[in-house]
Amino acid sequence: MAAKEILVAAFLGIMAGTGAGSAVAAPSCGNNANGFEAWLGAFSRDAVAKGISPRVVDAALGNVSYDPEIVRADRRQGVFAQDFLTFAGRMVAKYRMQQGTALMRKYGDSFARIERSYGVPAAVITAFWGLETDFGANIGNLPTLRSLATLAWDCRRPELFREQLMAALRIVERGDLRPEEMVGPWAGEMGQTQFLPTHYNEYGVDFDGDGRRDLLRSAPDALASTANLLKAEGWRRGEPWLQEVRVPDRMPWDQADLDIRHPRAQWSNWGVRAADGSALPRDQMPASLLLPMGHNGPAFLAYANFAVYLEWNQSLVYATTAAYYATRLAGAPPVGPGRGQVKPLSLGETKELQQRLAARGFDVGKIDGIIGAQTRAAVKAVQLKLGLPADSYPDEDLLARLR
Ligand code: CA
Repeated sequence: MAAKEILVAAFLGIMAGTGAGSAVAAPSCGNNANGFEAWLGAFSRDAVAKGISPRVVDAALGNVSYDPEIVRADRRQGVFAQDFLTFAGRMVAKYRMQQGTALMRKYGDSFARIERSYGVPAAVITAFWGLETDFGANIGNLPTLRSLATLAWDCRRPELFREQLMAALRIVERGDLRPEEMVGPWAGEMGQTQFLPTHYNEYGVDFDGDGRRDLLRSAPDALASTANLLKAEGWRRGEPWLQEVRVPDRMPWDQADLDIRHPRAQWSNWGVRAADGSALPRDQMPASLLLPMGHNGPAFLAYANFAVYLEWNQSLVYATTAAYYATRLAGAPPVGPGRGQVKPLSLGETKELQQRLAARGFDVGKIDGIIGAQTRAAVKAVQLKLGLPADSYPDEDLLARLR
């Protein structure tokens, strides 16, 4: 231990000596291991300058090497193109309902304290817990510091990962985790609900009172930290987040848009009813009508708290699934398929649609086969222009019209 500290001190000293006067133009990033060690040395020196103790920097980064597998994993990232019913059917599986329900009971006391402290109900936290890591069973086993250092050197998003690597050092500095305890998936998230190191630092909570924030092995720490993050993102205590509804045959479909909110009484006037067919409360609670697969598919009212889901993950299908799973854990029945069979466009068809929309002058963002916010807005605009139900959801009819 002592010898290593001397080594690192000497190393840092050398780096300091080569500082300002040196005219060596070292590359600032790289797509392979060449230059990684020199860069990591400079990063280590910077970390010490920013107040991390040399002992911690050495323990955390002294033996870290470049891992080309991490970069390969980053380049491999697949396109997320499953429709809501397919994804939700897979994610909200029977075992996740059973385990989630059992764990809400097992940690009932913790959840009650968490809701008192942060205002976030057990079902909401448990849904993220299940989706992210199967309740802590799959937290990943790659060394986090190695992943972060590799991605911080890699030229694709160096600034993002340098911030995360620095945050990871602060977690060690605080005594929350030892470097060898930091494991996770390839992108550097950690713990039972997969926190980025910056979130770990900012929102991590020691809820079991052992003096350290262990989001990997302490369920109470992980669950309270998740609630703390959700609260910071704007979670509103005591309010709903998502509610399945039944839509009428005809209504102003262009109002079904997450950017448009109406009081529940207005939705009720347009013929929207609760999923069981009963009337919605005729009150002023604002909500958006969310039609994740268009006006023939499942329908939900998304309340103000739904915005917090999109802060967690900007994929609308993931966000809707996480919110729906939470309603199930809170007692809602399984979602209905809507009023007809919806056949979603394939990845290739979605790309073709995006190309055809772009050719007509609509801004669809990247032509990537993903139906993001820009593509939805462009679809809505062209639906309005063509006199189609403007539900922002592209189907085969629309593609046929554009051909
Ligand atoms: Ca703890």
